[in-house]
Amino acid sequence: MNLSLRNRILAFFIGLLLVILLLVLALVQRSTYQHTREQISQQLQFAHTVLANELQGRRQAQSALAELIAKDFTLLGEIADLIDSPEQQAQSLSASLESFAARSQASFALVSAPDGRILAGTSEHLHPGQRLPWASMLQGNEPSSHEQLVLQGGQVLHINVTPIFAPRPNLLGWLVMAFVIDDRATQHWAELSGADVAVLAGQPGNYQVPATNLSAAARAQLASSLLPADDGGLLLELQGQQQVAYRAPLAGTDGELQLLLLRSLSDALASYQPLQWQLAAIILAALLLASIGAWLIASTVSRPLSQMVESVRRIASGDYQARVAENGGSEVGLLAREFNHMQRDIAEREATISFLAYRDPLTSLDNRNRFVARLQAALANALPGAGVAVLLMDLDNFKDLNDTLGHDAGDQLLCLLGERLLQHLRAGDGLARLGGDEFAVLIAPADPHAALAAAHHYHELLTEPFAVRGISMTLNATVGIALSPDHGETAGSLLQHAEVAMYWGKTQHSDLALYRAELDSHSLLRLALMSELKGAIEEGQLSLYFQPKLTIASRTLLGVECLVRWIHPQHGFIAPDEFIPLAEQTGNICALTRWVIRTALAQIRVWQSEGLQLKTAVNISALDLLNPDFAAFITSQLQEHQVDPASLVVEITESAVMADPALAMQQLEELRRLGVKLSIDDYGTGYSSMAQLKRLPVHELKIDQSFISDLLSNPDDEIIVRSTIELAHNMGLKVVAEGVETQAVLEQLDRLGCDIAQGYLLSKPLAPAAFAEWLAKCPWALPRG
Ligand code: C2E
Ligand code: CA
Ligand code: CA
Repeated sequence: MNLSLRNRILAFFIGLLLVILLLVLALVQRSTYQHTREQISQQLQFAHTVLANELQGRRQAQSALAELIAKDFTLLGEIADLIDSPEQQAQSLSASLESFAARSQASFALVSAPDGRILAGTSEHLHPGQRLPWASMLQGNEPSSHEQLVLQGGQVLHINVTPIFAPRPNLLGWLVMAFVIDDRATQHWAELSGADVAVLAGQPGNYQVPATNLSAAARAQLASSLLPADDGGLLLELQGQQQVAYRAPLAGTDGELQLLLLRSLSDALASYQPLQWQLAAIILAALLLASIGAWLIASTVSRPLSQMVESVRRIASGDYQARVAENGGSEVGLLAREFNHMQRDIAEREATISFLAYRDPLTSLDNRNRFVARLQAALANALPGAGVAVLLMDLDNFKDLNDTLGHDAGDQLLCLLGERLLQHLRAGDGLARLGGDEFAVLIAPADPHAALAAAHHYHELLTEPFAVRGISMTLNATVGIALSPDHGETAGSLLQHAEVAMYWGKTQHSDLALYRAELDSHSLLRLALMSELKGAIEEGQLSLYFQPKLTIASRTLLGVECLVRWIHPQHGFIAPDEFIPLAEQTGNICALTRWVIRTALAQIRVWQSEGLQLKTAVNISALDLLNPDFAAFITSQLQEHQVDPASLVVEITESAVMADPALAMQQLEELRRLGVKLSIDDYGTGYSSMAQLKRLPVHELKIDQSFISDLLSNPDDEIIVRSTIELAHNMGLKVVAEGVETQAVLEQLDRLGCDIAQGYLLSKPLAPAAFAEWLAKCPWALPRG
């Protein structure tokens, strides 16, 4: 059973009190009973002594009376006459005895001859001529032997025999007097002693009660009772009342008669009844008071506790308003105060947590969780046919900016951007920062046209520069767009597809990108790969392939271009076109370039030890040039691998140089001073003019393969190639043709004066082992140093 605390306290106190009170009651009852019983026993003992004295006195008085009668001359004369003439005198003696008996209140009186033969008397049972039944009393001289209590004919008789002398010592006969002890006598005794009196004879269960002051019914019950054998105090039940009894042999008998004194225990106890009622009343009152007290105390403990239980339930359901009463300075009051305190703290903390859960702490815009929730709601509430659009805006090169200016500046910039977006937020649109440099806008309802217009609106906000630490900067970002229901019907898929579109947009260097299903397979894989690239470099999943370069005029091998390959443990071969652009966006490209340079230099060292002088080209990205330590890194690596700087060619696209011409220029100058060769890659795909190139400290131009592949069939391409070669030569630059696949192209390039050829005609890029094999069977002359 699950009792409440209050009920348990109540039950305990009342139970305890009840037990104590019952014990006290039982003790009082018991001692009262015992005391009463003992008292009665003592009273009965005392009564017995009183009665014994009384009986003694009475018997002495009767004996004295008998002695007096025995000396009466009239009686003596009549006895003498009777002895002389028995027939005549018996009448007159009997009459005299009659009168004596009546005067002395004897039951009867007799005169017997010295031998015990009855001469005359007033007894109805004993007649002249019979012998006295108490012949033994006639012997002996002791006065006590001449009197006795006997049971005769259902009566207790006090028999007194007195010798009649005529004169002494001539024994004339015996005067026998019988005094009855009857109900009346016992009544007297009862009054005298204050106890009920009964004279008993016979066996237990079958007593004779010859005299008693008790009622007839009590007498009958007593006759059939079974008293214990031993004398003294005992208990018996008489007429529904408990009696204390005292039994003793009746003095002056031969033991067959017993005196029983009785007193009602029930009556004696009844005198204690008012006391017991008072006690019961006190107990009841104590119980009542204790119950009330215990209830009050228990309530002061349990009421706040149950209030607290209530409050805990409310807190669990998110309600922190109701407070527990803080009354009193007791521990309970203290607990209540602490409880309220705790409740307040929890409320505060929950507010913070829910703020953190739904707010971006940096910009105080909604966070991703909140955005997803709102997007879900918008999707659920969208009318049939109406779309919901997600715009995902991601800053370009934010990571480098962060690295260069510091995280504080980066954070400040994000805040400024957040503020600006919020300021120009169109009515009904929802804005959130999803993390990093990613902001999202929710537009509902939306169609593709509206979504693009919105994307344009938000992208335009970036044209105004931001001022961070006194530096004014212009940001660029790519906005990926996904629309329900065409691009996804759940918040998750819309966000994911907006992200896919955004990444695709980055690779295309476009500001806005709308999701298309074709983007997905590639982009998803790429997204996953990006997180793995750094680990891939460390775990040796990358390898360098080598593609030979030919000096056209002499048809001798010039060197190789190093091209990176990623053999992913699950996805297998991944082309550099797949991951290089993403590595550039995530900043992993710098680590990759360093790995490439180290690996390439180690390879040059191996070739040098084999007597081969291969000019080895590595590709670097725009971000590498933005790193002020780049040139220093190459210097240290050249020294470490003991490689001649002239063996290293650094290929760089024109657009990379143009990203930050000043910084790039500085780095390139430094490399050139070192003796490293510089090559402009993919020439012709950008917009840089020859005039701009002229200022760069480079050694060669690589004409993009798109111009070479159709060289023979496309006259435009031939013009471009021819003029490029001429211009480059005028500027003192060597020209490399990429993508040479046929002998015919090679020969045409030879005619046009191109210096170097690279392409499948010689070989595809080869793994180190395959390249070693290719070298062994190489149809071209090898550059041995
Ligand atoms: P790229 O620097 O223009 O490299 C030349 C690309 O043209 C290579 O593709 C090569 O396999 C391919 N190619 C060579 N000869 C022929 C030919 O005769 N016909 C055709 N159709 N293609 C030919 P790959 O290896 O897939 O590399 C693609 C691009 O990835 C490279 O273009 C380069 O921009 C980038 N890349 C490769 N490795 C690295 C690297 O280590 N660092 C950096 N930053 N970028 C790299
Ligand atoms: Ca290249
Ligand atoms: Ca190229």
